[in-house]
Amino acid sequence: MPRPIEALIHTEALAHNLVQARRMAPDAKVWAVVKADAYGHRIPLAFEGLRGADGFALLDIAEAEVLRRLGWRGPILLLEGCFDARDLEACSRLGLWHVVHHEAQIDWLAQHKTTWPHHVFLKMNSGLNRLGFTPAAYRSAWLRLSGLTQVDTVSLMTHFAEADGPRGVTAQMARFTAATADLPGDRSLCNSAATLRHAAGEPEVRGEWVRPGIMLYGASPDHPTHDITHWDLQPTMTLRSRIIATQTLAEGDAVGYGGTFVAPGPMRIGVVACGYADGYPRSAPTGTPVLVDGRRTRLVGRVSMDMVTVDLTDQPNAGVGSEVTLWGQGPGGAQLGIDEVALPAGTVGYELMCAVAPRVPVRQTP
Ligand SMILES: *Cc1c(COP(=O)(O)O)cnc(C)c1O
Repeated sequence: MPRPIEALIHTEALAHNLVQARRMAPDAKVWAVVKADAYGHRIPLAFEGLRGADGFALLDIAEAEVLRRLGWRGPILLLEGCFDARDLEACSRLGLWHVVHHEAQIDWLAQHKTTWPHHVFLKMNSGLNRLGFTPAAYRSAWLRLSGLTQVDTVSLMTHFAEADGPRGVTAQMARFTAATADLPGDRSLCNSAATLRHAAGEPEVRGEWVRPGIMLYGASPDHPTHDITHWDLQPTMTLRSRIIATQTLAEGDAVGYGGTFVAPGPMRIGVVACGYADGYPRSAPTGTPVLVDGRRTRLVGRVSMDMVTVDLTDQPNAGVGSEVTLWGQGPGGAQLGIDEVALPAGTVGYELMCAVAPRVPVRQTP
């Protein structure tokens, strides 16, 4: 028998979360962001749940090819655009829309021989200071692009730095609207945080296209301010395994490497076939929540490469073979949001779902 660990991808939960994105951004079209192999979900599996999107946004041409092979004929957007001039051939061949965020990308396009009219998203750096033209340089880039015979439509785009926090989108919106007021074209601004927190009430922010990623995968972009129940999102990935051993401890017994956890009294613990080599964060401390047979308990002691130890003191019926939910959907309707594990581990749900290791088998479920 293989090690009992596996990851499940929940098709209906993906579809539900997509509906939720639409509900929060009425009338907007949705780019389902599937970069990083659909945030670790694997594009072919995520596609089953997300095929109702208007388009898919990602970074790698290889990932775009996977989508085309799956039969997706609709729009695909390269969020970082082309990395060199030759990438434009793939764009023409596969019909990929692409972001333009620096001058050389316009040069490449101007020299590109194509009969396919390109759809480009011109990106403004409105304050995040990663990709994009400054507000001052934006108009001349727009004019140059619009004048190219290779280009069909130019859409306008920016990306928010703090849509999940109290400062919100105000400063970046002000720069974006001032610099684009009289430019035609679709607009795309919202990631998940902006879609959930701003899109419904602010049509200017909503634009014609939203670009949700993390919310589709059942994590909350503004956790712990709001959890997934608040946003009516469902976990789309379950990481689960089983108990492979138990130990009975007396007061003073230590658990795991470094003896960081010492039993305050008699205890029973379970040893779970899941460790940091499976993608479970080594930084998860004693107290991190976990489900055993669908009931909430806690991690005790250090995470090791292939195992973690959990408190079974209050679960006398749990033992070897009991099902352990590290995150996601447990038996009997129990749930453990990935954010609840990420927070004590000092990270975010994004990182955990992307980090599930290749040795963990991934399966699709309804
Ligand atoms: C990753 C990404 C998104 C999605 O962000 P989430 O926080 O996961 O919703 C949207 N737009 C761009 C440009 C991105 O790179």
